[in-house]
This record gives sequence, structure tokens and C-alpha cells, in this order.
Amino acid sequence: MNIVTRFAPSPTGRLHLGHAYSAIRAHDHARARGGAFLLRIEDIDPGRARREHIEGIIEDLTWLGLAWDGPVVRQSERLPVYRAALERLRERGLVYPCFCTRSEIAAEVAASAAAPHGPDGPLYPGACRALPADERARRMAQEPHAWRLDMARAEAEAGPLDWADGEYLVRAEPGLYGDVVLARKDAPVSYHLAVTSDDAAQGVTDVVRGRDLFAATHVHRLLQALLGLPTPAYHHHALLIGADGKRLAKRNGAPAIADLRAAGLDPAELVAGLRAGKLPAGYSAASE
Ligand code: GLU
Repeated sequence: MNIVTRFAPSPTGRLHLGHAYSAIRAHDHARARGGAFLLRIEDIDPGRARREHIEGIIEDLTWLGLAWDGPVVRQSERLPVYRAALERLRERGLVYPCFCTRSEIAAEVAASAAAPHGPDGPLYPGACRALPADERARRMAQEPHAWRLDMARAEAEAGPLDWADGEYLVRAEPGLYGDVVLARKDAPVSYHLAVTSDDAAQGVTDVVRGRDLFAATHVHRLLQALLGLPTPAYHHHALLIGADGKRLAKRNGAPAIADLRAAGLDPAELVAGLRAGKLPAGYSAASE
């Protein structure tokens, strides 16, 4: 089988060292096996994605010497595909419109002593799950709404699931994440639905990405089963952490590739160092 991997950044800022590491891991995984490496821009968040960051990502990867195959795919150009996937779930009664605001959800969680919690915090308590059909139809015509997966139904329909992650076989437990949002009020699709649709459409055989996205795979595996999509092999790699002991991320001040370039670093040395798990001088790395 021809291996296909991808790097799928969200253009909400410039790439930093953590992104570069992830891109290298995905790139090398494919190239070492004679496979293809794709670039997908995850620009579905109208409030945060910026055109100049897309250009910046392309510039940074080019400077790093990481060449990708085929055209750059942009999620903002694929909205009809996501709408069709959502529609298929809707026809089967697996999603429902949710009118709740963040503050309504927070108030409902606070009011219930036994509000269920998942690994990421409180789960959606489900006020909109059981709305009577007439109220739902009336409000849909008037109010902005998100679409949530009816997790209990979806799990019952899909049955037990697992996925291969590196050496491990992981039992999928999407129920831990509750009724996740598949289309947002302010964005036509959520990360979960877009990424699952695209990995299948692009023939991605191996998803190589950071461990911070491991948990999302529970939901992705369920969506694959519901939509009849193939399941890639997953390889969630360790995250680089800086001298301060925190993982490299924009909010922790990880250096941008553009800044390292401006500082005169040699890209080949930088990439060779990252391949060996080493950050450039002045930063010390370990993996989390
Ligand atoms: N767009 C996601 C991010 O920037 C990554 C998606 C993925 O690799 O599945 O964190």
C-alpha cells in the first residue's frame, strides 16, 4: 500500500518549533516508505484563520525544505463536502440542533451536582437533545444553532470500535466526550467532522500528529464508522518541551520559525536537530 501522510495546520498564527517537529515527523514517515506527504490548511474558523498565515505556513515549510505532494488543500473550499456528511448523519437522527449559549450550558452544569464530566471538563448536559419536534423546528427557523452528535445513539449504532496507534490497539471510548459539536454556530463544521472527512477524501493512510490530538481520535474513529470511511493508522508522537518544562506552543512563547530564520539559523541544521529531538541552541528539549 502506498503510504500517505499529511500536515494539517490551522492558519491562526505562524508555525513554531512544535509545528515544525510535527511536520517533519509526518513528512519523514511518508518519505522513508516511498509515500506521499500532503499539506492541508485547516481554515474553517472564520474568526481565527488568516490569509497571511497561510502564506506564512507555506513560506516556513519551504524554508525548512519540507516539500509536499499535490495541491495544498484548504478546508474552507470543501464546505459542501462537510455539509453532505452532516446531512447523512441528520437523516439517520444521529445529530440534533443545539441552541444553547456557552453561558446557558455553564449555568446548567453549575446547577446540577451530578453533571457528567469528561477528560476535557463538563459534558454538554443535553438540554437540546430532547426538545419536542415542533419546538425544534420553530427555533431552527429563528435561532442560530450548532449541531451536536447524539453520542449515545451514535455509539449504539456503531458498536465497539478500536484503532491502531503505533504499536498499540486502542479501544475507542468516544462516549467520554459527550455530545460533541459537529457544526458550530459560527462555523459551518467542526474540526472533528472536517478532519475525518478530509483524511478519507485525501486517501491518508497514516495520521502522524502530536499526542495533544490523541483524545480527539476517539471521536474521529466513531465518525469514520458512522460515515463508512476507512480508518488510517495513527501515530501520535511525543511533544517537544522547552527549557521551561512546558510543551512548545504559541501560548508558551515557542519560537516562530520565521523568527529563527530572521535570526540567521541554518534550516538544514535546524531540521537535522529536530529529527534528533534537539532544539536550537538556547532552548533545551525533551519529549513529554
Ligand atoms: N489543525 C489541527 C491543529 O492545528 C491539526 C489537525 C490534525 O492533525 O488532525 O492543531
